[in-house]
Amino acid sequence: MRKNVIAGNWKMNKVSQEVTQFVDEIVSKIPTSENVEAIVCAPFPYLAKLVEQTEGTALKVSAQNMHFENEGAFTGEVSPIMLKDIGVTHVVLGHSERREYFAETDETVNKKVHAAFNHGLTPIVCVGETLEQREANETKAHVEKQVKQAILGLTEAQVAETIIAYEPIWAIGTGKTASSADANEVCAHIRQVINEVTSEKTAQEVVIQYGGSVKPANVDELLAQSDIDGALVGGASLEADSFLQLVEAGA
Ligand code: 13P
Repeated sequence: MRKNVIAGNWKMNKVSQEVTQFVDEIVSKIPTSENVEAIVCAPFPYLAKLVEQTEGTALKVSAQNMHFENEGAFTGEVSPIMLKDIGVTHVVLGHSERREYFAETDETVNKKVHAAFNHGLTPIVCVGETLEQREANETKAHVEKQVKQAILGLTEAQVAETIIAYEPIWAIGTGKTASSADANEVCAHIRQVINEVTSEKTAQEVVIQYGGSVKPANVDELLAQSDIDGALVGGASLEADSFLQLVEAGA
């Protein structure tokens, strides 16, 4: 059985005192259940401290992006080696905000996914359609293309370890959640695509999260769906209480 992965994507929020307080409030309460994995995706400046603060606990630490190169003349960038060096375990790649504002493409996402695996980091790969694409009935084709490009050239074992986050762009930060049935339909399609590219066994192993206005009030219904294995949460992950409720829902 697949576990639920509940990841809180803080985006560009919190300063050090808030980070410390958040972890202090919840770290001892994170369920150690085999069914759930809890991750916080924090801004770069706080990652090292978070790794220290969560050592030996059930809370994992993720970056929100990275470069695909190991080192070099890339001013302002952070490499997979650096993330690994400080003990980060996961990295979010291809978030729609990075695709929209920072010129992330399917090709750079694919390079970053390979770089993550080369350095022992687990990628959380984000895919999802715009409202325009949904209304034009292009959701499945678009998401299928993004998934295929992201995992291009991976071994089957690496595909099995990749976490995919289906985040319809129109549902991010808008309060509009995809209905649980609609979200599940796309997640099931992603699993079918993985099945075609690899095998039924691998498709059944891949964790597929839903993201987009997930909150304690709607998380149970989303997690009850057959192909949704957790959530990538923005706004509702910023408050310790609310994040903890989401993790408990996944346990
Ligand atoms: P919200 O939960 O704020 O809609 O954000 C979703 C998201 O983009 C998580 O990566």
